[in-house]
Amino acid sequence: MTIKDKKGRLVEIYNRFERDVSEFKKAAVCQIGCADCCINVGNVDITTLEGIIIHERINTLAKPLKAEIQKRLAQNRAEKENNKFAKCAFLKEDNTCLIYDIRPFSCRRLYSVEKCNGGPPIIHRQAVKLANEVVRELQYLDDTGYSGHLSFILYLLDKPKFKKAYLSGKFDPRKIKDFGISHNILINRFVK
Ligand code: SF4
Ligand code: SF4
Repeated sequence: MTIKDKKGRLVEIYNRFERDVSEFKKAAVCQIGCADCCINVGNVDITTLEGIIIHERINTLAKPLKAEIQKRLAQNRAEKENNKFAKCAFLKEDNTCLIYDIRPFSCRRLYSVEKCNGGPPIIHRQAVKLANEVVRELQYLDDTGYSGHLSFILYLLDKPKFKKAYLSGKFDPRKIKDFGISHNILINRFVK
């Protein structure tokens, strides 16, 4: 399957998940501007395929905004390397998401039936199960790619050689072995 086909399939999976959890989400109290889930975040994990879409979007931003996002991503990466909770690089001043239309599945799966107020979201058990199945499906779809924290995957995609190899369908995890081990990057093909 080409990357273009995979991108199309990714959107279908996102949409199917939204349909599958729509009844559960009716009980959600999430509102625009409520963003605890984007501020003290443990992990916003993504696949390389999701990373490519976000990376392409970053490259379309006006120069000053692009520079600001790259600065924030570097800061986010440093915080995550020190195992800190970190604010997402894409959260805007008004607590809305700069990349909402292409946000990764880690963000799409989240909702809460009670206000988080700094705590974890309260999600229906069945929706968590469905979401975990989708994560596996996304890894299977991106079978020449990897999964890991958003700022780590975007860091890899900033490397022209890595990006070129990924886009051409080449699969050689040895090329990112050291970074992969130190940053808990999963090889999608080998995830059980
Ligand atoms: S998951 Fe929690 S913090 Fe995030 S929007 Fe919903 S209620 Fe707000
Ligand atoms: S990508 Fe958007 S929705 Fe996801 S954590 Fe970042 S700001 Fe929040």
